Amino acid sequence: MRPDSGIRSLLADASGRAAEYLEGLDDRPVGPSESSVASLIQELRRPLPTEGAAPEDVLAFLDRYGSPATVASAGGRYFGFVTGGALPAALAANFLAGAWDQNSFSWVSSPAAAAFDEAALVWIKEALGIPASTEGALVTGATMAHFACLAAARNKVLSQAGWNCDADGLFGAPEITVVVGDEVHSSLLKVLSMLGLGRNRVMRLPTDDQGGAMAADLPTVIGPAIICLQAGNVNSGAFDDAGPIIDWARSVGAWVHVDGAFGLWALASKDLAWRATGFLKADSWAFDAHKWLNVPYDSGVALVTDRDALAGAMSQTGAYLLPSGARDPLNFTPDSSRRARGVEIWAALKSLGREGVGELIDRNCRQARALASGLTELRAEVLNEVVLNQVVVAFGDQQTTERVVARLQANGTCWCGGTVWRGRPAMRISVSSWATTEADIEQTLRAIEREYSSASSGSLALN
Ligand SMILES: *Cc1c(COP(=O)(O)O)cnc(C)c1O
Repeated sequence: MRPDSGIRSLLADASGRAAEYLEGLDDRPVGPSESSVASLIQELRRPLPTEGAAPEDVLAFLDRYGSPATVASAGGRYFGFVTGGALPAALAANFLAGAWDQNSFSWVSSPAAAAFDEAALVWIKEALGIPASTEGALVTGATMAHFACLAAARNKVLSQAGWNCDADGLFGAPEITVVVGDEVHSSLLKVLSMLGLGRNRVMRLPTDDQGGAMAADLPTVIGPAIICLQAGNVNSGAFDDAGPIIDWARSVGAWVHVDGAFGLWALASKDLAWRATGFLKADSWAFDAHKWLNVPYDSGVALVTDRDALAGAMSQTGAYLLPSGARDPLNFTPDSSRRARGVEIWAALKSLGREGVGELIDRNCRQARALASGLTELRAEVLNEVVLNQVVVAFGDQQTTERVVARLQANGTCWCGGTVWRGRPAMRISVSSWATTEADIEQTLRAIEREYSSASSGSLALN
């Protein structure tokens, strides 16, 4: 590209606007105003223009209508779902990798991207203490990580029963028993359906009062079987009782898969690792980088101890795809052409270091405990044991709780979502961002105090 192409001023404009946006997050409402969303939608409903616009005008449009309509989830007071921000190094890596525009499906299409892919996987395994021989794939999120892991699991347990699922599919195959905890995440059930294993034909293990699957009433399992465990309940953060359940799974010859979307990162913390070490004996793990590692979307990780099982389920050959002798990511991922998300993961881990990852996890967990004790002081009812970064809280009766959630979202100081926890309407708080400070926690508690007191005084009006 020639120096006079205008690219330099365009990208400087983009990075200036991005910095302006991020620096403004602290002072704007966390949820977007209805009017900003409405005006964006109105602008987006225009027909495709006949003639193109200048890039700087496109960018100006995005910033004018897009930026105000965004949810400020990159800031420090967004506690909805399980949502990380983007670490500065990871965001900057995303900018630069965008310019590189590498197709990271193979070594030949991009040796650099393939090398970052592999390096990111190596460091992730080091950070979590997962054996180096484990194979993996960088995918769009935990959902697709489930898909890669469970495709490998399905084919492997069927091959042990003498059936080639890869070649012959599921028609006529021996039945696979799939066992999940009663509080399995909905994404895993979706993946079971995508893999022809069915959402509903699962056996469910009972869960304790925190939502962790118990090693009680373990069923009799004969033949091919896959056991799915969870490290980090999406509401409470609870862990399944992995140790004894995996021992049982081994005794029946089952494949053990772990949904550790955010909770598996406990392994990176010196203080919290003990809660998750039981899961290290599994065969596969699916988890996110875009949640607790704080890289941009979309970024998830699949790890599988049996390299051949993952490669057998995911490999792809074609006349123009000559084997390079190097590691080609597409032989381990569901997709082929793909962006170089390994660059951001590598950048995040490089900027944090091993200790920094643990400190990020510990800090968010400490902040969650501080919120829980502050809420208890406000006479709200914390419903879960705060073992990780998740707090589930009720404010008196159902109506008051729902009112506090609605008022708090309208207040804009922070954003927390509603849930139903063991039959009871509640508010959930997930502290998962590098950007959250102690001051954010204090500000959040003051906002909750104010809205709780207005909601209990019977005032229905939102301000
Ligand atoms: C978020 C989450 C998922 C799904 O992850 P995606 O990245 O959205 O695909 C699965 N399991 C648990 C426990 C989660 O929290």
